[in-house]
Amino acid sequence: MNTHLVRGACPTLAAPMATGDGLLVRLGLAEGGMSAEALTTLCRLAMRHGNGIVEVTARGNLQIRGLTSSTAPHLATQVEALGLDLAAGLPVETSPLGGLDPGEIADPRPLGRALRMAVAKAGLADSLGPKVSVVVDGGGAISLARVPADIRLTALRIDGVVGWQLALDGKVDERPLFVLKEANAVPAVLAVLAMIAAIGRKARARDLAREKLDAIAPAATSGACPSPVASIDHAGHCPEEWPSRLRLMDDRLAMFVGLPFGSIQAEKLVAFLDAVDPEEIRLAPQRSLILICRNEEEARRTAECAPEFGLIVDASDPRRTIFACPGAPACASARITAREIGQRLAGAIAPGLAVHVSGCAKGCAHSAPTDLVFVGTDAGIGIIRNGRAGDAPFAHVADAEAALALLQEQTS
Ligand code: SF4
Repeated sequence: MNTHLVRGACPTLAAPMATGDGLLVRLGLAEGGMSAEALTTLCRLAMRHGNGIVEVTARGNLQIRGLTSSTAPHLATQVEALGLDLAAGLPVETSPLGGLDPGEIADPRPLGRALRMAVAKAGLADSLGPKVSVVVDGGGAISLARVPADIRLTALRIDGVVGWQLALDGKVDERPLFVLKEANAVPAVLAVLAMIAAIGRKARARDLAREKLDAIAPAATSGACPSPVASIDHAGHCPEEWPSRLRLMDDRLAMFVGLPFGSIQAEKLVAFLDAVDPEEIRLAPQRSLILICRNEEEARRTAECAPEFGLIVDASDPRRTIFACPGAPACASARITAREIGQRLAGAIAPGLAVHVSGCAKGCAHSAPTDLVFVGTDAGIGIIRNGRAGDAPFAHVADAEAALALLQEQTS
């Protein structure tokens, strides 16, 4: 078995992951953003040490691809020298605009920080699997509903009082357990994490029995918020929402820019940043960047320039719901030119249809099921309906033309 066909590891600067196009590192910021100069430097490092492709993932992490075992250590040293606030330990995700978004119910950052500190102090991170994560969703313009999480804290306002709904392994309303005061949220999350850790490093929140969870209720809900039966203001937002711009609480403007298939040539991103010169960049979920602009003029320049560099500014752009891995020729495992096919499908798909084009069955670009999957196989392009790249295709077609014809047939 090829080890790079196994999903599950989380690549870091210190431990890059082997992929079909070399080693890959993934960087996330604990909170906040970085300067345009810092992102430009990261892009230049990607060109020098990797294959010049940078990516932003569905969780809003930056990936640098195509490294080798000799270049990866140089990249790590030079990234560390930038002094970025890199996320480490258990992933605790908050909105990249936390504390700046006028629509949020609560600033998620203090709770996020408290959780990271408490998990580190309890020494829990090493007993948990690399995929276990927590989302702290304070509401506002950035939807974290599509960011998978074992434990999800979602801000609620009940009769004017802010509380945090604790839910496990799923969407906002899936298996909600308790609504907690902020002071009780950290011990409750720690208790759940300890239960996951007690099962073993392969365990996830979905493995926990409800009765066990109910056992932590008395401690977790001591002094809890009232039950959310009435007068409830929910942070949950439509996952399809994707603003193009937002005026922030400090009066700056946030401009949302999507990367087609989450990927861009580093050289092109450098040229875009040079043309726009934003004050700050935030990595955002749904394979996006948020450019924080000082004024209207800068925001206007961003909106005008982004499409010229192949970037997405329109919320209805079909490339937002097409997931495609680098494919051939970038990846040695690929059987098809995934991104080229994805680009061609963009002109043919119905709005909102989620399509995954995967160079092989590993399905690097998207782990969740989509409406349609086109996967490269030894027998041609396999087609899967409502599934993942690793599922069994119901049909095969010979090439991209035939895939397009089938897509039109499926969506007409
Ligand atoms: S899914 Fe794509 S990027 Fe991942 S190994 Fe297969 S071809 Fe390569």
